[in-house]
This record gives sequence, structure tokens and C-alpha cells, in this order.
Amino acid sequence: MEDSIGINNKELKTKPGADQLAKLINNGTPGCSTKKIPLWLVLLDNVPTLTMFILGALIINQISTIWAVVFMAYALFSVVYFWARICPFCHHYASQACPCGYGVISAKFFKKRTDKPFIRVFKNNLGIVFPNWFVPTGVAIYLFITQYNQTLLWLSIAFALIGYVIIPLISKFVGCKSCDIKDECPWMQAKNKIKDQMARNGTTVDGKKIIIPEMEEQVGC
Ligand code: SF4
Repeated sequence: MEDSIGINNKELKTKPGADQLAKLINNGTPGCSTKKIPLWLVLLDNVPTLTMFILGALIINQISTIWAVVFMAYALFSVVYFWARICPFCHHYASQACPCGYGVISAKFFKKRTDKPFIRVFKNNLGIVFPNWFVPTGVAIYLFITQYNQTLLWLSIAFALIGYVIIPLISKFVGCKSCDIKDECPWMQAKNKIKDQMARNGTTVDGKKIIIPEMEEQVGC
């Protein structure tokens, strides 16, 4: 018997390997979540990121305009790479439930993929965005030591505030907080590990029993 996303329930009762499990977990129809993230939330997710890219380029521009342009091109490339290599494996692919709108854009240019588990793909490819934080930070530290000036100070403060405070806070309290797939997200893994360990030990949090989700609850949207 098949459920609403076309997965044979008998398959779930077997113990699938990682790739089989990936196929089962990722086999939902594109955009199967009915949740719709409002435009203000999509903007709240994207405007600070774009502002951080621009501030990063302005910091690098203090030493070289060409490298500032290269940085900006890399930052935009990293976003397209994210659409191409991560979003096609996600439950939010082609869905307006994606907190930053990437899921819908990704579906316009890239095909849905089901051959690997989303969590593994996410972990293996997320590093593409790290230079967007660390390169301007490194350049700012170098410039503080070699040629400090007032403009650098204000650019660095704005960059640090947006990159290391505002964006993580928005993710934690707005984007990730209400995300349908936060249980699969590597960012939430540390928290989940503690939760799973406590459940295995039969312990409780706030007087409530913690239940590890059944396989059926993790499949589909
Ligand atoms: S939730 Fe993340 S991985 Fe999923 S579609 Fe949106 S941006 Fe891509």
C-alpha cells in the first residue's frame, strides 16, 4: 500500500541502506509542503546576506578592487552552487515553504535529486559559503594590523554585526525555528543528539517524555 507521496509502506518496514533510505526520504513530490513562507520572511533571510556580501567586497576593496569583484562573483556563485547542489535534495525544493526562497528558484534551473540523503549532501557542500564570512574577516584583520583607518573600522563593525550576529539570530529565531525539516538539518544535529541520548536513557525534559520520531514521521513532508 502506498502513502500520499507514493512510498510503499512495506519498504519502510525493511531496514534500508543509506542510499535506499535517501531514496525513500527524498522521494516526496516536488514542493509537497503546503506551508507558504511570507515575502517579508524571505526578504529578512536574503537582505542581510546580500548586505554582508557587499560589505565584504568593500572591505576587500581597501586592498584591491579586482579582488573585491572576484569576491562578489564568488559570493554570488556560492548561492547558485547552493541552488544546484543542495536544494534539489531538500523537501523544500520547488516549495514556498523554503525560508529563503531558494527552493523555488532552484526548481526553475535544476532537477530534483533523490540519489543521496539530504543531510549528507548538506554537510558535504555547505563549506562553499564559508569563505563569504572568513575571507573578509581575514582581510579586515590584516588591514587592522597594516593600514588601519576609520572607514575600515566602520565597515568591519557592520560586517561583523550582520555576519556574526544578525544572520545567525535570524536563522535561529525566525528561519530555522519554524522550518519543517529542522530535524534533518546538521545545524540542529548537536541538539538532536542530546535529545536522542536522553530519550534512549528514558529521561525527560520539563516533565515530558521525549519520543524519538518513527521512520514514518521522518519520511515525506
Ligand atoms: S530549506 Fe535550504 S536546502 Fe531546502 S530548498 Fe530552502 S535553501 Fe534549499
